[in-house]
Amino acid sequence: MTIRLISEKGKETGDSSFAQEVKEKSQAHLERCYQCVACSSGCPVAFAMDYAPHQIIRMTQLGLKDRVLDSTTIWLCASCETCATRCPNDIDIVRMMDTLRQTALREGRTQQTKLPLFHTTFLAGIKSKGKIHELTLILRYTLTSGDIMKVKRLSKDALMGAKMFAKGKLVVLPTKIKGLGQIKRIFQQAEKTND
Ligand code: SF4
Ligand code: SF4
Repeated sequence: MTIRLISEKGKETGDSSFAQEVKEKSQAHLERCYQCVACSSGCPVAFAMDYAPHQIIRMTQLGLKDRVLDSTTIWLCASCETCATRCPNDIDIVRMMDTLRQTALREGRTQQTKLPLFHTTFLAGIKSKGKIHELTLILRYTLTSGDIMKVKRLSKDALMGAKMFAKGKLVVLPTKIKGLGQIKRIFQQAEKTND
């Protein structure tokens, strides 16, 4: 079903099949949301998001796929579960965010912001060693994002890195965890599920 809307952005068309798809993949009962805003009030990252979590749910219900998948919100969500814990309707917002990220990646919607690049670089680090090695993460991200050309940004990062190193927060060489095989199996399973 097509939904026609008039918003501050003018006339928009919503696609209800998007809501259905997100619901099926995430098993989150989005239809139960009555916009009480308890999720967004507790979200520690909401201040940095372009849309608060409750707005993402409403836009998903209305089938505003482009707005949802191009938002910074889905990438900034830290999966901390505060929202799901606070929701009076037991809506699994964390799985919904995860589904939205996977959908955005599958559809190649990664051009609006560099956040998806950070996300995939972070996950590649976990897959490879079972944990994050900060120096490798920073190096990979800086090289692939083009941030290496931004001298001001680089010197800021280098200063922060030096402070972290002085406090013993940065390890020079990467190490692997013991149960790396299990981590790789989790990734294989997740990749199959997302196909
Ligand atoms: S807390 Fe639950 S019901 Fe309230 S706005 Fe958020 S998702 Fe909707
Ligand atoms: S899981 Fe994501 S959306 Fe929910 S409170 Fe945490 S950061 Fe916010």
